[in-house]
Amino acid sequence: MKNRFFKGYRCTTCGHYFDKSEADFTCPICGEKGILDVVYDYEAMKEVVNLDYFKNNHDYSMWRYAPLMSIETDNIDKMLKIGWTPLVHSQNLKKYLGIKDLYIKDDGLNPSGSSKDRASGVGVLKALEAGADTIATSSTGNAASSLACQAAHAGLKAVIFVPERAPIGKVTQICLYGAKLVKVQGDYKATFAFSKEAIKKYKWYNRNCAINPHLVEGKKTVSLEIAEQLNFKPTDWVVVSVGDGCTVAGVYKGFHDLKELGLINEVPRILAVQSTGCEPFVIADRLHQELKEADENTIADSIAVGIPRNPIKAINAVRDSHGVWISVSDEKILQAQALLGKSEGIFGEPAGVASLAGLIKAIDEGIISKDETVTFIVTGNGLKDPLNAQKAITMPSVMKPDLEILDRYLKGEWK
Ligand SMILES: *Cc1c(COP(=O)(O)O)cnc(C)c1O
Ligand SMILES: [Zn+2]
Repeated sequence: MKNRFFKGYRCTTCGHYFDKSEADFTCPICGEKGILDVVYDYEAMKEVVNLDYFKNNHDYSMWRYAPLMSIETDNIDKMLKIGWTPLVHSQNLKKYLGIKDLYIKDDGLNPSGSSKDRASGVGVLKALEAGADTIATSSTGNAASSLACQAAHAGLKAVIFVPERAPIGKVTQICLYGAKLVKVQGDYKATFAFSKEAIKKYKWYNRNCAINPHLVEGKKTVSLEIAEQLNFKPTDWVVVSVGDGCTVAGVYKGFHDLKELGLINEVPRILAVQSTGCEPFVIADRLHQELKEADENTIADSIAVGIPRNPIKAINAVRDSHGVWISVSDEKILQAQALLGKSEGIFGEPAGVASLAGLIKAIDEGIISKDETVTFIVTGNGLKDPLNAQKAITMPSVMKPDLEILDRYLKGEWK
């Protein structure tokens, strides 16, 4: 199946346009540094992708947006149901924060428990399109477990590189989905470098999100969904956490596409959240300087990315949406995790709830005002990392089955 709306690529570094037959992964002129952005023919797309298209489309997964993605495949029926995750209309947390309206996009409810499934799904389709039999990636954990999941279902082999500190839940997923796990000594930077060498040597299909331009096209479906779930009237702000920068780039691209199609009026402002333990984007933004390597010192492992791999797309996304960069401490992330759990019944992993911690700080600092509306994205499920979540709660001691002790416990006199 050809996608006649998918035209080609524009290099985010030199600005050159390439027809889709002239490029594949990175810019033929700039090489590795030239990350490509997929270009569509919106005028032609408009004729097909309109309100009626959505009304008559009963595929409630991200695949309903296939014409808006750079996929040219007949293999969608080989894929799991990814996306169309709930957009929760908050009441309790909204009241607590005192803002006009609040929605929570619970992307932890994807098949492998994170928004990475949106990108991995497209990665697997592109690998099938390319006739590959093995797909590989390096990841802080979620892209890895997600790729293992999606590859298993589609019958592809997967080789996955993770840093040694990847949480046990994610590493367990990778092995359980039958992928070849390479647990690399050192941090994510070391892991990424090693995977690059190996991918080159063995010629595996490369799912690394920054390098592969198609994956952001998968990630953008999160904002296509947010917009559609809100009848194409998205909130004033969308809040998301940032590691490599692909997710925030996707969030922007989705809204940008809908604006080009005339389906929404404005791209929401993006609040991009990092952890103070690893905040290369925030520092570069504050000091108006180039991105510099940062330490990877945070419990929010999925956004512990010292050398972001998709900096230009991420910086452009926040700038073009009139957005704001912000960072939050691990302590605030843990508080947000517990708050979200008890106020809305949603359990996000630390990187997944960093968005909420950022929202709280942005309200405190007057960046987001009380008469504005907000959607924040929970990018990953808390069950992936129960050890860190236990820092956000108090676990009671083991109780003898004795009603008197229970009575004291219920009164708060026994812990
Ligand atoms: C990957 C990830 C992010 C950040 O995405 P990037 O594309 O690396 O910026 C945020 N939260 C979770 C749970 C993730 O897995
Ligand atoms: Zn270029």
